[in-house]
Amino acid sequence: MPTNTHIASGLSVAAGIDRLAEVAVRTGLNVREGQQIILTAPLDALPLVRKITEHAYRAGASLVTTLFNDDEATLARYRLAPDSAFDTAATWLNNGMAEGFRSGAARMAIAGGNPSLLSGQNPDRISRASRAASIARRPTLEIITAFEVNWSIAAAATPAWAALVFPDLPEEEALENLWHAIFMASRITGDDPVAEWKQHNANLHKRADRLNELRFAALHFSGPGTELTVGLADGHRWCGGSSEARNGITCNPNIPTEEVFTTPHRLKVDGYVRSTKPLSYQGSLLDGIQVRFKDGQITEAHAEKGENILNKVLETDEGARRLGEVALVPHSSPISQSGILFQDTLFDENASSHIALGQAYTECMLDTDDISPETLSARGANSSLIHIDWMIGSGETSVWGLDASGARVPLMISGEWTETL
Ligand code: ZN
Ligand code: ZN
Repeated sequence: MPTNTHIASGLSVAAGIDRLAEVAVRTGLNVREGQQIILTAPLDALPLVRKITEHAYRAGASLVTTLFNDDEATLARYRLAPDSAFDTAATWLNNGMAEGFRSGAARMAIAGGNPSLLSGQNPDRISRASRAASIARRPTLEIITAFEVNWSIAAAATPAWAALVFPDLPEEEALENLWHAIFMASRITGDDPVAEWKQHNANLHKRADRLNELRFAALHFSGPGTELTVGLADGHRWCGGSSEARNGITCNPNIPTEEVFTTPHRLKVDGYVRSTKPLSYQGSLLDGIQVRFKDGQITEAHAEKGENILNKVLETDEGARRLGEVALVPHSSPISQSGILFQDTLFDENASSHIALGQAYTECMLDTDDISPETLSARGANSSLIHIDWMIGSGETSVWGLDASGARVPLMISGEWTETL
């Protein structure tokens, strides 16, 4: 769509923020009476943070603790800190958050920072800082990927992000546009968004259940620049929509969500694949990614934009070159149909089928009670310090399910579900 088109969601920005906050607390987190919430957010997301805090206390939260990050402060580090500073991360903070989760707190994150904040900064510093941050985040990433607690991510429009998505509009109008786009993508513009989310979850559960019945051994993606076979992990489970965390609370980890997803086999991915949308990773934009897989591992990687960042990310650890997630999203998803390129993974991954490099979700595996990391790995679930989703689906992408004998069942033709599903 032209980037100067005006978007109207039918809600005022203030009313939309209030509703988004209510859906984030009630549907996203489903906060339990007496539960603490650890909230992380960009400083510019303050209006949404305040509304989430109000709705959380109304829903019975005992304490909401917010940790803000500020893009300007991040840039000041790149401008002024000594070069030796970039291997440092706030390990103490992540350890503290992990302790909070272990003692029962829920995790709420607000997305919305500038997706290209670090463009123009030294790639070596970016990758060192990102590696240090990934290592520091390990304890919290483990809790989240094992789904120990209820958690959710929602998004706030911020001026820097809005300027990137709507470069032809004045700042105020761009910001308003982005809020409306977020409200529509987050399915909160109807009369009863909490009830509509129940229906949306039921639809996603039905699709995941059907894929679980079909029990494919592999998926095959075919499209321009893509012929990729993704073997699925032994005892993989398809997930989608709301699900129950190990603390017994059913939550929606992503607002919005349009995907059904599962665990690929870390050793069984072969072929080549080209990305269909740019991707923002920790402040850097990557675009035109083309990679080749052999026996699960990326053997060749190129990108039209951000190639050196991509290659540094792939060096993070052994698991960074292998897949931890494969997800199916129809081309007709409302986010895709909006025609807006959000340049934020929370939205763009829900407009397109995608794969993720790195860590797998334990939730997307069957029979994982008391399972050892070695057994998980032997069944094909990947582990890594990173989890990076990137988009490979479009209206020109078709997907087949392959059973153990290699027979092919069409799942998506030209980006849309077939009747099999
Ligand atoms: Zn996904
Ligand atoms: Zn993912």
